[in-house]
Amino acid sequence: MILVDNEVVLHIDNVKAGYVVGRRFIDAVSSVSLKLFYGEVFGLAGESGCGKSTLLKVIYGYIEPPLKRIEGSLILRTKNERLSLHELSDDELKRRVWWRYMTWIPQGAMSVLNPTIRVRDHFIEMFKLYSNIDKREVYRLTTEYLEALGLSKEVIDAYPIQLSGGMRQRIVIALALLFNPILVLADEPTSALDVVTQKILLEQLLKVQKERGFTLVLVSHDMDVHGVFTDRIGVMYAGKIVEVGSTDKMFAEPLHPYTKALIGSLPRLGDKSIRKGLSGAPPDLADPPPGCRFHPRCPYAMDICRREEPPIIEIEKGRIVGCWLYVKG
Ligand code: ATP
Ligand code: SF4
Ligand code: MG
Repeated sequence: MILVDNEVVLHIDNVKAGYVVGRRFIDAVSSVSLKLFYGEVFGLAGESGCGKSTLLKVIYGYIEPPLKRIEGSLILRTKNERLSLHELSDDELKRRVWWRYMTWIPQGAMSVLNPTIRVRDHFIEMFKLYSNIDKREVYRLTTEYLEALGLSKEVIDAYPIQLSGGMRQRIVIALALLFNPILVLADEPTSALDVVTQKILLEQLLKVQKERGFTLVLVSHDMDVHGVFTDRIGVMYAGKIVEVGSTDKMFAEPLHPYTKALIGSLPRLGDKSIRKGLSGAPPDLADPPPGCRFHPRCPYAMDICRREEPPIIEIEKGRIVGCWLYVKG
């Protein structure tokens, strides 16, 4: 896959954000730079607490205390305009960007449905806010979107409380896709579901993604999900992006010692040996270790790793890693 810059939908440059808790600053997104491309499925991987959800909130612009964005820029390129998201007010974001261009399916999204309001009314409300089409058209579009995700049109008259977790999550996804956004941020969209339902729902989501061509950022701590469903992966560790690359190349030859550990701990077909997980725990983000944040757990750690932060370098087009092992000279 050759990716060129004019296909960039979102350019995240040197974004720093975290939580201000009393006198402590939890450095959850630490100088993150990334480019997301039109029509790709970008997987965001990493252990619990590494900052995946925080990065998505910052991209979407859902920044409420104690979360604070400190610096950095986010440029969204639509077909007609170039929007500096970091400069837009909450009002402008709501009016010009959310739902139209970008949607966010937050972690635990099923709770966003009001259990006492019928499914159809969730859709009607949304159309009222963001478009002026008539009720019959709302009904037609709603049933079309629900059917694309494997739901029958009768669901439209149900209350969310009457539906299974998988059905509710499909409704949340259908709502998110309603106005054909160009970028969809999906934070663990299936993690509350059983394994079989997870797989079916992800397959359906990916089918719709291919048909409509939007860019999907798929957050998951499950490397199996990334291996099957994503085109590229960004690996996060303790608030930093430590490796980016195509899914195929990353699985064939992971570069960063942390990525190696994530992929190495996956069971392989026919391999009966016990897979070694990563020992130790991620650092406290209010007081991260100096140098490379992974050094206390890294089997390859050198002196320089304990003192200086590794630069992020491009090993080949589109393959990025932040580790002293790859710095020459
Ligand atoms: P998970 O896989 O468990 O969802 P994550 O990678 O999404 O984890 P985040 O939720 O982004 O991680 O959290 C990043 C860091 O920020 C963690 O140290 C977490 O404890 C901290 N954090 C998250 N939300 C808050 C908050 N509201 N107030 C203070 N700290 C927070
Ligand atoms: Fe390990 Fe050093 Fe690379 Fe960090 S920079 S991952 S400690 S080898
Ligand atoms: Mg999360």
